[in-house]
Parts: sequence; structure tokens; C-alpha cells
Amino acid sequence: MLVVKFGGTSVGKPERMKKIAELVLGMPGRKMVVLSALSGTTNALVRMGDHLLAGRIPGAHQEIADLEKHYQQFVGELFQSPAYLAIGQEIVSRYFSLLRLLAAGRFDDRSYRELLAQGELISTELFYHHLQERKINARLLPALHFMSIDENQEPELDKIGERLKPLLETLKDVNVLVTQGYICRNHSNEIDNLKRGGSDYTASLIGAAIRAEEIQIWTDIDGMHNNDPRVVKKTMPIAELTFDEASELAYFGAKILHPSTIVPAQKYGVPVRLKNTMDEKAPGTIISNKGTQGGYKAVAAKDGIMAINIKSSRMLLAYGFLRRVFEVFENHKTPIDMISTSEVAVSVTIDETKNLEAIVAELKNFGTIEVDKDQSIICVVGHMLSEKPGVLADVFKALAPLKIRMVSYGGSHNNISILVPTPQKEQALVLLNEGLFHLK
Ligand code: ADP
Ligand code: ASP
Ligand code: MG
Repeated sequence: MLVVKFGGTSVGKPERMKKIAELVLGMPGRKMVVLSALSGTTNALVRMGDHLLAGRIPGAHQEIADLEKHYQQFVGELFQSPAYLAIGQEIVSRYFSLLRLLAAGRFDDRSYRELLAQGELISTELFYHHLQERKINARLLPALHFMSIDENQEPELDKIGERLKPLLETLKDVNVLVTQGYICRNHSNEIDNLKRGGSDYTASLIGAAIRAEEIQIWTDIDGMHNNDPRVVKKTMPIAELTFDEASELAYFGAKILHPSTIVPAQKYGVPVRLKNTMDEKAPGTIISNKGTQGGYKAVAAKDGIMAINIKSSRMLLAYGFLRRVFEVFENHKTPIDMISTSEVAVSVTIDETKNLEAIVAELKNFGTIEVDKDQSIICVVGHMLSEKPGVLADVFKALAPLKIRMVSYGGSHNNISILVPTPQKEQALVLLNEGLFHLK
């Protein structure tokens, strides 16, 4: 079985939705199709939710009216026959009535999450009926029946598999199964989600849970590129990546993949292929266990990073000091990305700032604390970088004009992380493109 995920831009226009139906039909065997919301929809739902939380009711109603117009036009072009056009219009009016109902009630965090789920629910229902109109043997599987996260927001991979496998067994004769990306149920059985961009993660979780042959992520670019195409003019696609390499890139800001996408696929060795909906012939990127060749593969950047420096004379010749520092972060459920130590000081970076004040207050027990906000991690990923002579010289030569705040090297074979102030991020990516990939 293949798990194939199509992102927002791949379903954002009626002709694109028709095109992905063609693509799916051309694929061999059974397929589980994971869809995102139409492009722009989740952003509109976020704006609506923010209006409602802030009590700006007319603002929310304006967003609802604008979005409804967009969907009415969409179904007008998606469906051909009067019967299916009526079905499409009924779907739109049902979802927009629900949005108005949510806007009319007491609006809290729970209603916000329910609101955010509507984008994927409507896109899959429209796609499913498009397949019906074309007489394609398909079935809609509600993700809210099998996709779940635990009390720590972690997906329950085993349970997802236990729920999905019998379901797929009873639908053995159905070739195309359609489901929603991004949405799930939480520990309290409420509607929740896997965070922005989470449809990639859904596809990987399903692929791992049912031990699929392959997970395909179809998007608007021909695979993982060597640098961020939104920032750098000239970039090139990478044919092959290992799970570890792709995982680092996704985690450190390559937006083409949700940060956690690779984790479940890697756990069960299910290959992940990145493909371009606009150019299906392009080979894209294959991510697997296979060792790959070559030095530098790609660079990526992650913004919104904070560096915390803890300076303490008590650290000198002491043991157990770092454990106590790390415990503070653990107690506040805040992951650390980079670490750099000297004999009297340690710097760590975090991107989750919810508990920053409490963390800093506790760290003050150890010594002097300095916090640098608005930093970016630049991550250089490659094959066996730790074995490649001259790697640090290459990177530092390229970044010579910049002020580097921290460096992390040697933690894994395939990564060097460098912390720079965010206003220097763009320059860092451009300089590394020239210095490591000779692309101007
Ligand atoms: P989708 O809606 O299909 O999930 P996304 O917008 O989430 O698509 O991801 C695709 C986008 O990721 C590309 O259009 C590209 O601008 C951006 N991107 C950022 N870094 C990279 C990279 N290293 N390689 C490819 N695309 C990248
Ligand atoms: N629709 C969700 C978002 O925009 C999930 C996704 O597209 O992957 O974040
Ligand atoms: Mg995405």
C-alpha cells in the first residue's frame, strides 16, 4: 500500500484537485490519500479564531463570508453534473453553517481547535465526491476515528495501527482511501491537531502504522533542495537523503517537511519520497536507510531561537552541574536544541519560550544568566561530515563576515549547527550557498 499526501497548493484550485485524482489513478495498487486543507484555508481559520478569541465578531464574520465565496466558486468548477454540483453546494453550506455556529457560541481553546479542523474535513469531502462523480471506487476514512495523541501531545503510533489495520482489512476491495491530514483526537477525546504543516506527519504516521511500501509527499517543488528557495535565488534538488539527514533538515527549518515527519517512517524503515504535483516527471527526493554519497547535502535555518547562557564559577571542576541545569529544562518540558560549554559557562538554545521566565528564575540559582533573543540556527547537513577534512574551515570561511554566537559540531556524523542573530540569517544562507555549493 502507498500512502500519498497532497499539500495545500496541490489541492488549492479545482483543476489541481482534478489533476491529483489523475495522479492517484495512475499509481499502482492500493493507495491511502492524505489531504491538507486548500491553500490559504488554515491561515484564514487562524485569523477567524484570533478574531473570535479577541471578541472581534464582525472581523470573524467577514473572514467566514470571504472564505465561503471562495468555496462556492471552487465547487462550481470542480463538479460537472447538476446532481454533484448540488452535493458540492450542500457540503459548502453545511461547513459554513458550522463555522457560523462556532462563531456564535462561547469561543475557547477547544472551539478554536475544532475550527482549525474544518479545512481538512471540507477538502477531503470535496475530493471524495469528485472521485464519486468520476465513478472511482473510493472511501472516505475519518482521521478523527483513528489518529490520536497522548497527554504529552505525542502521536500514539501503536494505537493508530491497531485501529487502522482492521478497518483496511474490511475495505480490501477499495483501491483509493481518502483521509484528512493534520487533525486528530487528543487524550481527552477532543478534536486537536499535529501543529501547522502537520499533514506530512499524518502521512508518515499512517505509513509507519500500516508498514506501507512507501510514503509520498506531493507538494509544489521537485523535492528537498540544497537551500531554502524562499530565501536563496539558486537552489537545486537533492536526489537521495538518509533518514538522519532528512530528519535534521526538517527539524531545522526545511519547510517542505513538518519537523517530525521522518521519525515514524524511520522507525519502521518506510521510504519517504518527495514529489512535485506541478511536474510529476521530476525525480524528486528519496529518503531511506540507504547510505548515500557526497559531502555537503543541504543547509536550512530555523528562526525563533533563544540562547541562554549560564555562567557559574561552581561549574569549575564540578560534576553533576550540567545534570542540574538540564533538569530545569526537563521540569518545564522545554527541549534544548544546541549546547556549547566552557569550563565556567554553558550556553543552550530553546525554541519553546512559553516557560522562559520560570526557567530563567530557576537557573539564577546557579549563577549569572544572559538571554539572547531573535536568533536563528543554521544547520549544515551532509554525508559523514565528521570524517570529512576541512569541513569547519569551509563553513567558517564562507561565514567569515558574520557574527557567530554558537557552534555545535561532532554530536552527529551529519550535522553542523551554527547560531547567528536572525537579521543575519539570509546572508548566512547565501554565503553558504556560494561557499559550499558554488551556487550564486
Ligand atoms: P505543502 O502545502 O504542499 O505542504 P509547503 O509550503 O508546506 O507545501 O512546503 C513546500 C515549500 O517548502 C516549498 O514551496 C518551498 O518554498 C519550501 N521550502 C523551504 N525549504 C525547502 C527546501 N530545502 N527544499 C524544498 N522546499 C523548501
Ligand atoms: N492545513 C494545515 C496547515 O496549513 C496542515 C498542512 O497543510 O499540512 O498547517
Ligand atoms: Mg507543508
